[in-house]
Amino acid sequence: MGSVAYDSVRTQAGSRTDALGGSATYFSLASSYFSPVGVVAVVGDDFREDDLELLRTHKVDISGLERKPGKTFRWAGVYDTADVNTRETLDTQLNVFADFSPALTAEQSKADYLFLANIHPALQLDVLEQMDSRPKLVALDSMNFWIEGNKADLKKVVEQVDVLIIDENEVREFSDERNLVSAARAVLRMGPTAVVIKRGEHGVLMYLSEPDGSESVFACPALPLDHVIDPTGAGDSFAGGFMGYLSASGATASTLPAATLRRAVALGSVMGSITVQGFNMEALTGASKADIQGRFDKFHALTQLNEAPGGNGLPWSN
Ligand code: AMP
Repeated sequence: MGSVAYDSVRTQAGSRTDALGGSATYFSLASSYFSPVGVVAVVGDDFREDDLELLRTHKVDISGLERKPGKTFRWAGVYDTADVNTRETLDTQLNVFADFSPALTAEQSKADYLFLANIHPALQLDVLEQMDSRPKLVALDSMNFWIEGNKADLKKVVEQVDVLIIDENEVREFSDERNLVSAARAVLRMGPTAVVIKRGEHGVLMYLSEPDGSESVFACPALPLDHVIDPTGAGDSFAGGFMGYLSASGATASTLPAATLRRAVALGSVMGSITVQGFNMEALTGASKADIQGRFDKFHALTQLNEAPGGNGLPWSN
């Protein structure tokens, strides 16, 4: 559940106007490679048939995608020419989302895995409350637009999810903590078992609550890329790979093996790395299994630190 949008973006590589975007769109396309997925969202009567067809082609169940009179959600942003990690939102128009009230079908309310992609936190809570029984795992993403305007609503829903996936500046803003470790601890105290902090080209940090009340941390780099075209949707594609992997492995929030979560983070990073190498959905929708597998294999090589034959001791000189 999240936004399905038309995006207008400008990056150092060029620009696109009114191209298919939205948090739920990136999420569902990325997760469709690993798990059956359905989307709950609303579009306007300007939504194009070929965009619906793209979702169908990727076997995304669009029976929960309502069409209403009015305009589809619009977002516009521009990326810093020197630093692709920095972007400015130029325009956000909720349009048909402004008074959207989703009604889950019987089948949707029985889903084992629920991802509450970036959208109004009251809508995220509404969908969570419509679930028949507690899903095996619920994760959530949000952004500054909602943190600044609807923090109380957002806290209410964060308290009820298992995993919070959030950008590093946004987790600082949400928790009122400058330091990332303190910010992660503050989120874990609110309720989630894990918080996954996205740091753009610097990778991802995942903090996990341990049964003794302490927390463990996993750091995953981003795949070093020789060209980045358009970072839009990297975070949602990350979430799609992450949840797709957890769903395919049958993971349950109460017994989440750290090793499974780590592989889910690596696959999320793979999907994010693909999305940024094309405008909008271009690279994500054209990805081959060989490319996805090859990038996942690269993560093993990238992060492996073998112990020396004599053990882990360092060669001290004095
Ligand atoms: P990301 O780059 O992963 O943060 O996500 C970008 C996507 O989020 C774009 O395709 C936008 O359409 C969508 N988006 C931007 N602002 C919002 C918002 N306030 N609520 C929901 N979705 C949004």
